[in-house]
Amino acid sequence: MSSGDFNAFEMAQAQFDKVAEILNLDNGTREILRNPLREYQFSIPVRMDDGTTKVFRGFRVQHNDAKGPSKGGIRFHPQETVDTVRALSMWMTWKCAVVNIPLGGGKGGVICDPHNLSMNEQQQVCRGWVRQMAKNVGPLNDVPAPDVMTSAQHMLWMLDEYEVIHGSKNPGFITGKPVGMGGSLGRTEATGYGVIFTVREALKELKIKPENTTASFQGFGNVSQYAIELYTQLGGKVICVSSWDQQDQTSYSFKRTSGVDLKELLGITDKFGGIDKAKAKDLGYEVLDGDAWIEQEVDILIPAALENQIRGDNAGKISSKVKVISEGANGPTTPEADKIIAEKGIFLIPDFLANAGGVTCSYFEQVQSNMNYYWEKDDVLSRLDVKMTSAFKAVSDLSKKKNLYMRDAAYVIAIQRVAQACKDRGWV
Ligand code: NAD
Repeated sequence: MSSGDFNAFEMAQAQFDKVAEILNLDNGTREILRNPLREYQFSIPVRMDDGTTKVFRGFRVQHNDAKGPSKGGIRFHPQETVDTVRALSMWMTWKCAVVNIPLGGGKGGVICDPHNLSMNEQQQVCRGWVRQMAKNVGPLNDVPAPDVMTSAQHMLWMLDEYEVIHGSKNPGFITGKPVGMGGSLGRTEATGYGVIFTVREALKELKIKPENTTASFQGFGNVSQYAIELYTQLGGKVICVSSWDQQDQTSYSFKRTSGVDLKELLGITDKFGGIDKAKAKDLGYEVLDGDAWIEQEVDILIPAALENQIRGDNAGKISSKVKVISEGANGPTTPEADKIIAEKGIFLIPDFLANAGGVTCSYFEQVQSNMNYYWEKDDVLSRLDVKMTSAFKAVSDLSKKKNLYMRDAAYVIAIQRVAQACKDRGWV
């Protein structure tokens, strides 16, 4: 989705160009990495429930597969654009590389609004997407996953179509499948837990005990809920969370200095992560404006709602008590805010490192599917901890060694790994 003059792909290329300079990459490597290796754009004809035929536009972009099969979600959105898919596929390459899993980056999409499509029509869109892409995706070359407005059900329809076309069972073709139909235990928790694994490590480096800390979260959806669960288990206290109010079309922050009770709050939250403000007041929460989450006197801030939330105009409101920001959401911080965060000396854990638990667990799902042998949940989560912790340490060590901002250090590691893989393969 691109809005106004903002072009996500131009931004992704600008970020890459900056790091290419730091790394002094040669021109061939720059050219191969600042553009996708392959792109597919195609039509998906669907026989609608009313008997008419509607043709949808589909995309798959494989940014880079030097380190392994491309990996990335398929989005259903009415404002999808090929440039957004290109940018997201590039960011997937860096995300897989920073956690050092043997996968490349890809992303897909269909211009459509599932709100206006019946389940049958959505199934036809899924099967049509696979029919167009069946020869160019698969367990050994490109592994899709759910993303904006696509679910485990959509993945299962896609898998079924792929298996019908190939005449064999290939559960490793796609991830995000329902548990029991090739999905992995632990995937629901993975992103939120991963965020907290990185926070735990940052606190260790700062010599702060989690039980002596407080935190404020933006968003109360999948990422936040599981991050709050683990953070609380570590002894931390959450004093504020914010969420979007569908009825009022605005966001609110819910504050309770004695601490947020996760179970209690979940009991008054809808399936989209919206908290009922009347019930929250009854439970003793102060209901504040949507931006209040960022102004709290806490040790840790976790933006876990959406992009563009910590900006030049509000980063100054971050309390001097804040020591760590871990980005659960993708792209929550603008470059202007980055400068303010760096000046304040806050330990930032950048999005594509902090929220990489999701793709890491998807990789585990793919491994389990290919083996047709499934691990216990504890096994999945402890492997996730190992991966996230070692990725965090590598980035933090480089940041200290070269005096780089954590975001730049993460980019340097990721881009260097992919550049090296392209060189080792003799591509450049
Ligand atoms: P979700 O839809 O489950 O939850 C989103 C939450 O944000 C909800 O509580 C919603 O009320 C709240 N919200 C929306 N707009 C808001 C606003 N303006 N102010 C305050 N709160 C607002 O989404 P999620 O899966 O938790 O994802 C959150 C972010 O994390 C997104 O940026 C997503 O791309 C990123 N992410 C998610 C995963 C994953 O595995 N779920 C993986 C990587 C990155």
